[in-house]
Amino acid sequence: MNPAFTVLIVDDEKHNRSLLTELLGEDYRLILAKNGEQALERAREHRPDLILLDVLMPGMDGHAVLRQLKHDDTTRDIPVIFITALDSTIDEEKGLELGAVDYITKPFHPPIVRVRVRNHLQSVHQRRLLEQLAMLDSLTGIPNRRRFNEVFELEWRRCLRNRDAVSLLVIDIDHFKRFNDDFGHTEGDEVLRRIAGTLQRALRRPADFVCRYGGEEFVILLPGIPMEGALALAESARCDVEAQRVPAPGGMQLPVTVSMGGATCLPQRAEPDHALFARADAALYAAKRGGRNRVVWSPASAAGEAAAPFAAAAGRD
Ligand SMILES: [Mg+2]
Repeated sequence: MNPAFTVLIVDDEKHNRSLLTELLGEDYRLILAKNGEQALERAREHRPDLILLDVLMPGMDGHAVLRQLKHDDTTRDIPVIFITALDSTIDEEKGLELGAVDYITKPFHPPIVRVRVRNHLQSVHQRRLLEQLAMLDSLTGIPNRRRFNEVFELEWRRCLRNRDAVSLLVIDIDHFKRFNDDFGHTEGDEVLRRIAGTLQRALRRPADFVCRYGGEEFVILLPGIPMEGALALAESARCDVEAQRVPAPGGMQLPVTVSMGGATCLPQRAEPDHALFARADAALYAAKRGGRNRVVWSPASAAGEAAAPFAAAAGRD
C-alpha cells in the first residue's frame, strides 16, 4: 500500500483523536481536526485520501460536514467513514445516504478500524490507477484526447477568470506514412513515442500540456502566456524534433520533422471556443503547404476573431 496516503481524523474528543493516531499513525500521514469548521478547512487545504469523521460534535456535526464536503468540487470525491458512538441503524442509514462509504462504531475494535481504513484506501488507489490509465495514450504514455478535452475546459475557464491568453498548437509528423510503409508499424510506433517524449520535454511550465490527439497528431495547450511566448516554445520544440534521429533497421539514423499550426485567443465566454482549434488546424495546413518542418501561427486577432486565410490543403502528410 502506498505509504503516502493522507487521512484526516475529525473528532471533538482528544482521547479519540489520540486513539486513532496510535492506530493509524504508523501507516499513514495523519491530519487532525477537532470540529466541523476545522475539518472543512483542512479537507480543502490538504485534500486527504480518506476522512474519518465523528458524527456527534458540538456546533457543526458530522452529517453537516459531509453535506458541505459533497457540495465542494475539491472535496466531493474524498471517501468519508463515519466513526461514532451512534449505533442505531437509523443513523447508519442516514450517514450512508449522505454519501459516507462506511460506518464504524465506538468503542473501536482496533483491527477492524485498521482493516476498513486499509480497504477503502486500496479502493482509492485502484480507482486512481484506472482513471490514470483511461487518461493516457497507451502507446506513448502521454495524455490522450479525452484528457485533453478536460484540461482544455479547465484551463480555458482559468484563463477567462485571469484574462489570460490561451494558445493551442496542432502538430503533425511530416511524411509519417513513409515510416510505416518503409519500415513497418513497429518503426512508426517508435517514431510516435520519440516525438511524444520530445514534445513533453519541450514544455516549460506546470500548466503546459501535451497530448496525442490521434494518429500522428499531437496537441499542445499553452495557457496563460502571450502569443510570443507560445510561438517561441513551438519553434524550440520543432527544433528539438528536427535535431533528433530515429534509429531504424540496418543501423540507419532517420531524421524526423513536424509541422505545427498555432493559434492564440483571449477567452470571452465560459465555453471553450472550438474556433481556436479550427484556426490552429488551418495554420497547420498552411505549414504543410509551405514545405513542412515549420511553425505557422494563425493571424487572427487575439480577441478571438476567427479568420480563414488558408484554404485547406489536399492532405497533411
Ligand atoms: Mg464526538
